[in-house]
Amino acid sequence: MKIGFIGLGIMGKPMSKNLLKKGYDLVVCDVVQSAVDEVVQCGATLALTPKDVASQTDIIITMLPNSPQVKQVVLGKDGIVEGAKPGAIIIDMSSISPLVSREVAMKLAESGIEMLDAPVSGGEPKAIDGTLSVMVGGKRHVFDSCYDIMKTMAGSVVLTGDIGAGNVTKLANQIIVAINIAGMSEALVLAAKAGVQPELVYQAIRGGLAGSTVFDAKAPLVMDRKFDPGFRINLHIKDLNNVMDTAHGVGVPLPMTAAVMEMMQALKVDGMGDDDHGSLIRYYEKMAQV
Ligand code: NAD
Repeated sequence: MKIGFIGLGIMGKPMSKNLLKKGYDLVVCDVVQSAVDEVVQCGATLALTPKDVASQTDIIITMLPNSPQVKQVVLGKDGIVEGAKPGAIIIDMSSISPLVSREVAMKLAESGIEMLDAPVSGGEPKAIDGTLSVMVGGKRHVFDSCYDIMKTMAGSVVLTGDIGAGNVTKLANQIIVAINIAGMSEALVLAAKAGVQPELVYQAIRGGLAGSTVFDAKAPLVMDRKFDPGFRINLHIKDLNNVMDTAHGVGVPLPMTAAVMEMMQALKVDGMGDDDHGSLIRYYEKMAQV
């Protein structure tokens, strides 16, 4: 089966390589030439525009930074909608605003094109392993027809509701990850300032109730001072902005999320926006004068 893949960044590159490994024919496109070259070397075919990708495929995956890029790639000039045939399916695996997922899907429906919003969790390591968690919104029969493709990249693929539900689920995920990283940062900085080695604290408590996937993924990197992304602070701020917009729209206050977002914003202003979100600990270290 021939599949389109648009957006070959930190996540899209390993995800597309896993599809190639499983024997799918891929037609790919990205604005960064070096990213395209790398995936073409693994067996994919190059297309110059999203329209060209869509004209050669019936299922098109997008893995782009945020809502404006998804709107541009799907509905803009030379976009997917100009090349796709009725009956085509777009699986948007980017993390974007659920409101934009619904808006884009409604426009596509006018041309007989189906859409799933299917953001992922697990970061680059799980994208490489093909063990991402995929949370999906859309029609059941469209989900069923795309399940095997998504499962190629994932450990779990769960339909959580109609279009937009995938991104609402992802917002919930991002709240938990952000607050977990903040909690871990507070704990490790306190331990260091109070004279106990953070490494020993981590080893002592990771198997207890304080243990978590976030703690195991981020604490070793933070303690080794490895802040290369991973997941960029800028992208997490983007997600938390989408969280706050959605929360305000339905009248839900999120005081802890708002606080973490402000800390990330401060790091961005200090020039750390392209570092991994684990660098949140540097905000606490600065305040505690570590
Ligand atoms: P990235 O910035 O590394 O990759 C995005 C890619 O999209 C880039 O290669 C960029 O050139 C391409 N792109 C942008 N505009 C384009 C356009 N108009 N046409 C074609 N290509 C275009 O980002 P990423 O880390 O791979 O994240 C992608 C999405 O996945 C984001 O929504 C992010 O929030 C989400 N996500 C990321 C992680 C992570 O750990 N990095 C984890 C889960 C979810």
